[in-house]
Amino acid sequence: MSLDSLIANTIRQDVRSDHIYHVPDASGFVKLDAMENPYVLPSHLHLELANRIASVALNRYPVASYDTIKQRIRAKLGVPQGYDVMLGNGSDELIAIMAQACALQPAEGRRAVMMAPAPSFVMFQRSAMVAGMDFVGVPLKADLTLDLPAMLAAIGQHQPALVFLAYPNNPTGNLFDAGDIEKVINALGDKGLCVVDEAYEPFAQQSFMGRLPEFPNLIVMRTLSKLGLAGIRLGYMSCAPALLEQFDKIRPPYNVNVLTQAAAEFCLDHLDVLNEQAALLRQQRGELSAKLAKLPGVNVFPSAANFILIRVPNADQVHSKLLERKVLIKNVGRMHNVLANCLRITVSTPEENAIMLDGLTAALAS
Ligand SMILES: *Cc1c(COP(=O)(O)O)cnc(C)c1O
Repeated sequence: MSLDSLIANTIRQDVRSDHIYHVPDASGFVKLDAMENPYVLPSHLHLELANRIASVALNRYPVASYDTIKQRIRAKLGVPQGYDVMLGNGSDELIAIMAQACALQPAEGRRAVMMAPAPSFVMFQRSAMVAGMDFVGVPLKADLTLDLPAMLAAIGQHQPALVFLAYPNNPTGNLFDAGDIEKVINALGDKGLCVVDEAYEPFAQQSFMGRLPEFPNLIVMRTLSKLGLAGIRLGYMSCAPALLEQFDKIRPPYNVNVLTQAAAEFCLDHLDVLNEQAALLRQQRGELSAKLAKLPGVNVFPSAANFILIRVPNADQVHSKLLERKVLIKNVGRMHNVLANCLRITVSTPEENAIMLDGLTAALAS
């Protein structure tokens, strides 16, 4: 039997022709490509966490209601009264669940549309593809702000069921105008849902969470990843309870494992530690932006996230020179026209930022 024909006979065409999502191996590198928090928990908390984890009943399924962890999130992370949260194995899973819930069946006679600004977080488009939604990307303006007239026109033309707005946006780092976002939400009305993806909320300190009661078609999604817990994979989202219930029908019942749950509960009890780390990174973001702006030929875009987007004369060259020095940043220059020659750099410790700056300075001079 030939594996080729087996795969051709069983796996769908768009999956077969797709590429594997490439994550570079970063061992031995100063890793500034994935917006991870460089800080770890203080050692006394490490031990306490180890004890907590050791007492978890690994032989048992998670408690399906996830009441304890949800209660902590609602109480500590600004979820409005009367609003519940749904948890995901990372917010990546939540994006996939929303796409699956909105994709139409062939018998419904048309394809549902997902819309997002372009460039934005790549998982939006990927989830649309996998779920069987059409994806419409609306180009940002050259200054990387939202093109509101184009968004509103595209909404009128395509009637999207789901619009994703990353706030701040990845990979650009900027916050779209809150008034523009409101106009998008209102234009969708009862025909479409607007997901405000607040993965970088700890660094932006701006949120639509408190405004959920104003907009029945608003969904706010966040993650603990960028706050310092990328490894445990925990995302959460909130919206009107009747709407949340629809998504919850698609969520696998035990999608968050007991170790993640225990670690997240522990860290939420010590949220002040993570918040202090975020404050340090916000301060570093300011200092690093100022230093980057002084380098000849470097253009720095304003950031409300824990990464900085810059434009250089030759992004491919700078990127590979930094790789030679074992510094890994993200070359986004070929992602979209408006990002030509752009690089995305995660803000890290003063030490790692200095290593990166040295490498960048040398690369620009060569
Ligand atoms: C990093 C990122 C996420 C990823 O979240 P996980 O919870 O780690 O899956 C979601 N949205 C945006 C815009 C991001 O940049």
